[in-house]
Amino acid sequence: MSPAYLLNSELSWLDRKKWDRAIHLLEIFSSEHHEELAHVKDLARTIKYSIDKIDSFIQQNTAVICPNCQKVCCINRHGFYDYEDLVYIYALGLKLPVYKEGMKDTEPCQFLSEYGCTIERAIRPFRCNWYFCSALLEHIEQGSAKPYRIFIKQLNEILDLRKEMLNEFVRILEASLYALSSPI
Ligand code: SF4
Ligand code: SF4
Repeated sequence: MSPAYLLNSELSWLDRKKWDRAIHLLEIFSSEHHEELAHVKDLARTIKYSIDKIDSFIQQNTAVICPNCQKVCCINRHGFYDYEDLVYIYALGLKLPVYKEGMKDTEPCQFLSEYGCTIERAIRPFRCNWYFCSALLEHIEQGSAKPYRIFIKQLNEILDLRKEMLNEFVRILEASLYALSSPI
């Protein structure tokens, strides 16, 4: 099967056949293009480092707002990686979590504990790190102006880095597809 299958933005763990196939291809592609993917890996490490840097700021705010939440946003549907997360996780050389079978999308997320998310912030599904409910956002905005400005700048930098990492990955993938389809 062609690595073009990796360009699948609809990929979901719930469709196990497609998911397993994509993981298999990603493993092969990562190992066959190990050296070309060096920049993708550097970018992934920089993203992880940048998310680690904003962790305490977010934590300070969620610690105030989330314990009183009546409608916790952490439901199962959000706890799965998507295909962009997979690129990031593989670039970091990490393993995927083992997902529980038979859980409903709307049930509390399988990674949620009484102390919050059990996955280190930098390797959570990206949507989790990017979601701020209105109560949380309001609290952040009401804090000191300078830390808030720094936080927004860091978030934007992380977004740009992620975009660059994904573009670079797709560029290498497309180049390899082109090489496969070109006559010798
Ligand atoms: S981020 Fe917002 S919705 Fe999610 S748990 Fe915290 S307060 Fe609740
Ligand atoms: S932050 Fe953690 S617990 Fe919440 S939805 Fe994401 S993975 Fe699940």
